[in-house]
Amino acid sequence: MEYPRQDRDYEPVETRIRHFEEFVLPLAERELSTQGARCMDCGIPFCHQGCPVNNLIPDWNDLVWKGEWQRASQVLHSTNNFPEFTGRICPAPCEEACTLNLEDVPVSIKTIECAIVDKAWENGWITPQPAAHKSGKSVAVVGSGPAGMACAQQLARTGHAVTLFEKNDRIGGLLRYGIPDFKMEKHHIDLRLEQMQAEGVDFKTGTHVGVDITAEQLLQQFDAVALTGGSELPRDLPVPGRDLEGVHFAMQFLPQQNRRVAGDSIPPEQAITATGKHVIVIGGGDTGSDCIGTSIRQGCASVTQLEILPRPPEKENKGLTWPLWPNKLRTSSSQAEGAVRDWSVATKCFSGENGKVEKIHCVRVAWNKDAAGVWQMSEIADSEFELPAELVLLAMGFVHPVQEGLLNDLGVAFDQRGNVLGATEGANAYHTSVDKVFAAGDMRRGQSLVVWAIREGRQCARAIDEYLMGCSELPR
Ligand SMILES: Cc1cc2nc3c(=O)[nH]c(=O)nc-3n(C[C@H](O)[C@H](O)[C@H](O)COP(=O)(O)OP(=O)(O)OC[C@H]3O[C@@H](n4cnc5c(N)ncnc54)[C@H](O)[C@@H]3O)c2cc1C
Ligand code: SF4
Repeated sequence: MEYPRQDRDYEPVETRIRHFEEFVLPLAERELSTQGARCMDCGIPFCHQGCPVNNLIPDWNDLVWKGEWQRASQVLHSTNNFPEFTGRICPAPCEEACTLNLEDVPVSIKTIECAIVDKAWENGWITPQPAAHKSGKSVAVVGSGPAGMACAQQLARTGHAVTLFEKNDRIGGLLRYGIPDFKMEKHHIDLRLEQMQAEGVDFKTGTHVGVDITAEQLLQQFDAVALTGGSELPRDLPVPGRDLEGVHFAMQFLPQQNRRVAGDSIPPEQAITATGKHVIVIGGGDTGSDCIGTSIRQGCASVTQLEILPRPPEKENKGLTWPLWPNKLRTSSSQAEGAVRDWSVATKCFSGENGKVEKIHCVRVAWNKDAAGVWQMSEIADSEFELPAELVLLAMGFVHPVQEGLLNDLGVAFDQRGNVLGATEGANAYHTSVDKVFAAGDMRRGQSLVVWAIREGRQCARAIDEYLMGCSELPR
């Protein structure tokens, strides 16, 4: 009632699109303290329930208000291994769940989280926490995204000898080679790499498990295995013209730019760039937004984002949706940089000359419920249109993990959606159908969020610890 909501601002579009660095402007300490004071310390803190890692949000809001930043960092790290990741790229379901969001003015939880952890790094409060005793047990973690990193860190801290395998040349999973630097600079991952090395985690990059080490060797050499390889099979668009040059999956395009920023060079014959081109992004989610921001920074002629689903409502009905995540129109910082967006559009085909894509041919669609109440899509007659398309980026999500190779060699069972089968509760939590093999993150739950990956990595570590030692003191 006393203080209005204030949140971080962005560098203006004209300047931020000239570089690939982060562009969010932090609040001053005094402003952050005031924002912490807005928290009502609700009897039932819905924010805490809305957060997948169950961050103790009212507690650290209060500590920030009181200026007790180091204590705030300890409380924050008690539930989240990597708040500098979530403080930058989490969509913040906690803020949707905040009681103050009933009036559209939630506490600036994500901004406060990010400020706490940034301050903790600046002041040297984040140090390695090596285990006091070694357990004598060894664990292989396969895949170094946020799930694998969180799992490995928790297991090392409780005394197990952890080897973290990564097929790419650098660790981080999609944090490293999916999410652009302008959303999260990569030195944040490198700091955690150093911390985890000091805690005893052995990183083996450039090692494709299932190829460089067989499934059999893995099971022989380790007491337990955590599969955290993500959900890497992209959803394709098998329409005529799909094989034309210039039609690519988003994940063929985005990692190249992250590599350039990291100082790597991309061989010209492999380079995919948006410079000077009319770009079409198919798919309206996070990945699509990242393609837009990257294309704009590369100097595209135009960028249009097409979504097959209808345009969501401008505003949710809070009485029906709060404290859950509502379906409503959201505009990402990348979309605000100059993308044209269109909804209820399906792709019929691509066309071009000399083997190169030049146009996308679309049709408008309608969504109606059938007699059984299931949404059905139908094409609207005479609504065909075409757009110039010199680069088409397919950002329609991921089907499930790659099953060929490691997963099939291990013989793990899959759920109905093709993800690695494993429950999250009960005596067999995170255990796959194969003894001593566990799974967490996108590989188990399907494509999701960084914060869910961290939660699953932490909980999977506890399940493995219980499996190896009979009990565990790791938090859930
Ligand atoms: C472009 C893009 C943008 C996104 N933006 C956001 C965002 O802003 N906010 C958000 O919360 N979420 C975002 N997400 C989703 C988020 O990145 C994922 O949910 C999260 O990274 C999943 O973590 P993970 O650890 O399960 O898997 P991943 O991050 O996918 O990591 C899996 C790792 O395992 C490695 N691996 C796989 N198989 C093997 C093997 N056999 N041997 C060795 N290594 C292997 C892979 O190389 C990879 O490094 C985005 C996703 C994409 C694609
Ligand atoms: S729901 Fe909002 S106001 Fe209530 S405790 Fe959480 S952050 Fe504070």
